[in-house]
Amino acid sequence: MLKKELLDILCCPQCKGDLDYKVDRNELVCKSCGKVYAVRDDIPIMLVDDSTRRVDDLSRQQREPE
Ligand SMILES: [Zn+2]
Repeated sequence: MLKKELLDILCCPQCKGDLDYKVDRNELVCKSCGKVYAVRDDIPIMLVDDSTRRVDDLSRQQREPE
């Protein structure tokens, strides 16, 4: 079971929306975009499928012309 304090600081990594904890399924569901995040050993697995694209965008921004 996740602690309420942890739930309070967590938000959807995709849209920053509030998460709803489904105790019976041990899942976090985003109230805004409806994305579902599994919870394993009381640790929410906050993975967004298209996160690789975001990392790619970040590295491109950090690359400065010489
Ligand atoms: Zn969301």
